[in-house]
Amino acid sequence: MLENKSRTPISELGEFGLIRHLTENITLKHNSSIKGVGDDAAVISYSDNKVTVVSTDMLTEGVHFDLSYVPLKHLGYKVATSNFSDICAMNAVPKQLLISLAVSSRFPVDAVEELYSGILIACERYNVDLVGGDTTSSLSGLTISATIIGEGEKDKLTYRNTAKEKDLICVTGDLGGAFMGLTLLQREKEVFKEVPGAQPDLEGNDYILERQLKPEARIDIVQAFQELNLQPTSMIDISDGLASEIMHICTQSGLGAQIYEEKIPIDPMTFNRAREFNLDPTTCALNGGEDYELLFTINADDFEKIKGNPDFTVIGYLSDKNSGVNLISKSNTSHPIKAQGWDSFVQK
Ligand SMILES: [Mg+2]
Repeated sequence: MLENKSRTPISELGEFGLIRHLTENITLKHNSSIKGVGDDAAVISYSDNKVTVVSTDMLTEGVHFDLSYVPLKHLGYKVATSNFSDICAMNAVPKQLLISLAVSSRFPVDAVEELYSGILIACERYNVDLVGGDTTSSLSGLTISATIIGEGEKDKLTYRNTAKEKDLICVTGDLGGAFMGLTLLQREKEVFKEVPGAQPDLEGNDYILERQLKPEARIDIVQAFQELNLQPTSMIDISDGLASEIMHICTQSGLGAQIYEEKIPIDPMTFNRAREFNLDPTTCALNGGEDYELLFTINADDFEKIKGNPDFTVIGYLSDKNSGVNLISKSNTSHPIKAQGWDSFVQK
């Protein structure tokens, strides 16, 4: 009999469980490998102060994107900016991008050109060089692999495992918009399936559609930290939803967190659309994902540096591990937060 272990479905572990399983025995051999698997990006150092920050990402058609409502140009842009976001999450600056594609015969040259045009626009806007990659054929669909290289200062990098108890938890921008944009696009796709030829009804939803289709990386925040002379104690970008990201910081830093529901920044359009879809706006912000905002923690003494700044919202504080990770609701009751972030291995 074959040992049953080999039959464990990947969905049982989930994405983060799979990564842990595959990498738990890796030890770093080189002094130049400062940080390996387990953060937004890896950190490599060949000199005393400057470090290289590297991250890679793979996206598969039908799993990560649906070309029936995502234009290829937007997809290219998003692939690039979502990778830049991982470098920003380390308090570093993206510099070089490599893109590899596996393309099926379904895609003509101009489709690939369209994808590249979006990637190149993002590179232009973020001052990043596209320095390489690979292209190959695929039996079905499109797979995109991106590797981003950035530059940072060794003592300014922000990891996930360095937060301290009593630190304030902050987010940039607003949350849940990208998820509401996706929900809207999916609804229009369903309508189209039932009534072929129906024109999508997307009017007046520009903000949330843009949040989904053309997200930006918060490189402006990396610059702002420098100008404010503010060193976050930890940081992560919000790609899988606030709940999942705060869990990463808490697990890795060995802490608990108390987050106030009323403080979570939600744009009025996100709020209203959520209500129309019978969704709880807070749940959209907690579990929606793809906002590519930054979640970071600061020492309470640094609060003055961000006070009144419209880019930042303090949403809670870090507490002792035993207090757990909780959402304090508007009616002042405490609910444990579970990470239900987006996981490509879980059937939805
Ligand atoms: Mg990340």
